[in-house]
Amino acid sequence: SERLFGGFRKTSERLTENLSQAVTTAKLDDATLDDVEDALILSDLGPSAAARIRERLREKRFGLEITERELKEAVAEEIAAILRPVARPLEITAFPRPQVILVIGVNGSGKTTTIAKLAHLFQEDDYGVMLAAGDTFRAAAIGQLQTWADRIGAPLIRGPEGGDPASIVFDGVKAATEQGIDALVVDTAGRLQNKRELMDELAKIRKVLGRLNPEAPHDVVLVLDATNGQNALSQIDVFKEVAGVTGLIMTKLDGTARGGVLVAAAEQYGLPIHAIGVGEKIEDLRPFDPDLVARVIA
Ligand code: GDP
Repeated sequence: SERLFGGFRKTSERLTENLSQAVTTAKLDDATLDDVEDALILSDLGPSAAARIRERLREKRFGLEITERELKEAVAEEIAAILRPVARPLEITAFPRPQVILVIGVNGSGKTTTIAKLAHLFQEDDYGVMLAAGDTFRAAAIGQLQTWADRIGAPLIRGPEGGDPASIVFDGVKAATEQGIDALVVDTAGRLQNKRELMDELAKIRKVLGRLNPEAPHDVVLVLDATNGQNALSQIDVFKEVAGVTGLIMTKLDGTARGGVLVAAAEQYGLPIHAIGVGEKIEDLRPFDPDLVARVIA
């Protein structure tokens, strides 16, 4: 939790600073509530979560005296209430195995690193993991995934640069089935600038997967970079439409003051949040703990 706190330090500092400017009178009156709402929006929680938290504070404490510390605690409680319903660890439950997890996201979001971290978490729970290099568009992507696969000791299914991602996924499921692998984690191309091609590519992967196992893919996990702030939210809109997202992982929550966007995402989309990235190392992916995160943000 020390490390996680460090992870959200800048986000927490920003919210604390914004909130402390809101508390100018001892009583929680309308003007103070306006300022609290503004402070939450300035801290990237988004208008919808900010309005909801304001309303809850009004219902519970209007006209009552409140200290800065009590205000922070009350805000933390309301943030936790928004985060709790979406906190859902990525569990391996597929039968028959393997569970097929497609990982999507724009280049640079931390997708490749997150795939390795996720695989590592599964390995720690004694699951057998295989990776598939479905991002054949970027030459560097395959090599980078190979480096991570070697580091964590997971087999990688790969093809040539420019090869057909659907055929790699097909080979991956076959190999994983033969080897009794529990989870197949698939990297995919993050080409949002060409939505049509990306859509076709994902549709083809789905078609091939569906022939092997009608339940696959079991998960379509969108990786988002928190440092993108509100832009991360618009990526959810696009990928929901293009890829049928089933859950989120937000990365780079260390080193950004924009971590409030996690709360905005939870409030506006209600998609499961599986885990959060709080650093570049293999162990820096944390299962998403809503109470802990709320406490360290506010
Ligand atoms: P991709 O292009 O989406 O596959 O992104 P990469 O996995 O290559 O990551 C891009 C950069 O972000 C790399 O330098 C990673 O080390 C870094 N990165 C990924 N996740 C995190 C995180 O949670 N925190 C920090 N600080 N850096 C991260």
